Amino acid sequence: MRHSPPAVVSLDAILPEEPLLMMGAGPVPIPARVAAANSIVINHLGETMNRVIEQVKVMARYVFQTGNAQVLGVAGPASAAMEMAVCNLVEPGTKVLAICNGFFSQRLAEMANRCGADVVTLDVPGTRTTTPDEVEAAIKRERPALVTLVQGETSNTVWNRYLPEICAIARSHGCLVVVDAVCTLSTMPMDMDDWGVDSIITGGQKGLSSIPGVSLLSFSLEAWKRIEGRNAAMAHWCLDARLADRFWNKNSYHYTAPVSGILALHEALRLICTETLPARFHRHELCSQALQRGIEAMGLDLLVPEEARLSSVVGIKVPAGVSGEEVRRYMSRVYKVEISGAFGLDILRIGQMGEQCRAHTIFRTLHAFGSSINAVGGKVDLPSGVAELERVLTEGGGA
Ligand SMILES: *Cc1c(COP(=O)(O)O)cnc(C)c1O
Repeated sequence: MRHSPPAVVSLDAILPEEPLLMMGAGPVPIPARVAAANSIVINHLGETMNRVIEQVKVMARYVFQTGNAQVLGVAGPASAAMEMAVCNLVEPGTKVLAICNGFFSQRLAEMANRCGADVVTLDVPGTRTTTPDEVEAAIKRERPALVTLVQGETSNTVWNRYLPEICAIARSHGCLVVVDAVCTLSTMPMDMDDWGVDSIITGGQKGLSSIPGVSLLSFSLEAWKRIEGRNAAMAHWCLDARLADRFWNKNSYHYTAPVSGILALHEALRLICTETLPARFHRHELCSQALQRGIEAMGLDLLVPEEARLSSVVGIKVPAGVSGEEVRRYMSRVYKVEISGAFGLDILRIGQMGEQCRAHTIFRTLHAFGSSINAVGGKVDLPSGVAELERVLTEGGGA
């Protein structure tokens, strides 16, 4: 043996004594039931797993609002689900229209490109929502077979509010539509069958309030037909939807499923079903509105105009004379609350997904945020912010 054991410390020496409250753009806090499920290992095949998988699919169909779409999981980040949706639906030369509002929607374009698709982008710059008219014009001009877009662009907190209209237009031109709903699923309406979405992508660690690393996606019957009829071989063995179908629908082996993560996802989905989607949407909308009003009442500005503003991740302009990085560090160190910076924009982002949308977490977060800004040289009116948060929450019936 040439190599001796390395000198390392235990996790206790690395992790903070008290876990930070995760209020950034993901991962988000998980309910105790989800954490408990995540600590269990079971056989990845057999009767017990089959029952778990059956329930995961039934509950996922409710969350996706679909009667009979194909539901598959993937061992991997939401990006793996994005890649799985794209690479199964795209063959070399497939024309793809990628609607790009920012970082994550561009990732879909890049993935399609790497699969050999003929990708054209519809770039929607700044902080505005994509309009149905511009999509229709692009579809008429480019004649794509597939359209990709995000429901919520987490990177710059833009909401594609005209998603239903855009899906209808795409459908009327015979295009399949792939929607990234990673940060929005179960936080706001998403109606796979009614809107005519052909593939919905989600991850565990955002809207669903589960753990990172296990993701779900769905394919409409139309999309599944296209997958079954594809000519080109799939370059990715792990992401091959026809192989995944063996595990997810035929009780047989593809690869060893991430059993603990699937159990965690089962519990996350079960909690959503118990809460019901309408109640969950209301809780998210109310908490996000209360937080937004509170932030504005402190004297800060939100990045995105109201009509295009995402509710599941709130983007706040960093006030002049203050370093966003310093605010975040101070919040983590002193108040044990973690929020996010952004990719290149001078904003701070506070998540409103799943367990982040609770009265006690948003009070703690708003207080930590305002107090930290003041501590690093800014000047916000914290009492007014907290009062406004309280007012909006109370008027909305509490959360
Ligand atoms: C976070 C996020 C992703 C990527 O998720 P990973 O789990 O990091 O791969 C993709 N799309 C959107 C909209 C996201 O918010």
